[in-house]
Amino acid sequence: MPAPPDLDPPPRLGYTASRIDRAAALRGDDAALQKFGADARAGVYLFAGELVVLKASSEQCDPLFSAAAARSFGTVTESVFLGLADDAPRFGFNLEPQALEPLQTRNDLKITDLRGVAVHGLVAAEHLPPLAEAKALLGWHIRHRFCPNCGAATVAAHAGWRRDCPSCKAEHFPRTDPVVIMLAIAGERAVLGRARRFAPTMWSCLAGFIEPGESIEEGVRREVHEEVGIRCGRVRYFASQPWPFPASIMIGCHAEALSDTIVIDREELEDARWFERDELALMLKRQHPHKLTTPPPVAIAYHIIRKFVEDGGDAVG
Ligand SMILES: [Zn+2]
Repeated sequence: MPAPPDLDPPPRLGYTASRIDRAAALRGDDAALQKFGADARAGVYLFAGELVVLKASSEQCDPLFSAAAARSFGTVTESVFLGLADDAPRFGFNLEPQALEPLQTRNDLKITDLRGVAVHGLVAAEHLPPLAEAKALLGWHIRHRFCPNCGAATVAAHAGWRRDCPSCKAEHFPRTDPVVIMLAIAGERAVLGRARRFAPTMWSCLAGFIEPGESIEEGVRREVHEEVGIRCGRVRYFASQPWPFPASIMIGCHAEALSDTIVIDREELEDARWFERDELALMLKRQHPHKLTTPPPVAIAYHIIRKFVEDGGDAVG
């Protein structure tokens, strides 16, 4: 067994390790919510659809606004209560799309997408989980304006954690879509693939949505077989990551590959191949001779690949 490669200490996985107390018991408490809204320590994470608004800085940007400042930028179409950060109330607001244009010309604001915020470390790490919480929840409101039961317009309720139908009285709750993301491994090798949208040198784990009536393990085996034609046996859960693009949770796993021949589904992937553990170590360290890389450390794929580089076949038990 080769010695594990010398990697730096593991970086933090993006959007995880939230310090927010969601205070779910208070979501129906109008008096408490009113008090939180008026609290001088209250802070608002501000979105306009897919984009997040930050206070610009040459160092790290500040993503928190006062409610009054956030409302001064334009009409707030959705507001949600995210919870308490060391007792300070945190909210998420969504601005109407037409509010963006005048804001984009201001040099005291930075308007960008949340992936870039995480990849480039634009805000302190503690802000990424509540930003993910806000984006996933606000996006759910934007996409669920009508009752799936009867078609009537629904209204936000319970501090933004429910939508109620005034017509048929159905209550609708925010959803999270499970995605399996996995590394199929055999001895000292593992399979990575490339989607067309990737940067030309980036390779990553295979991934796909879990289907109704499917276990995590079954989803892993089906996705690997569909995308690269490889049969898998054992599946071991590794870690998970909220992925608010728009509302997923990535469920990271390692899988034992039982076959060797790759048959690529060209609809899903541009390419896929086996990588030796040593080559993956160079990709993690950004030292590959052909500049091939894994995804960045904010993404769970980096950590799934790293676990295999460090533990080899033990990653799948
Ligand atoms: Zn209804």
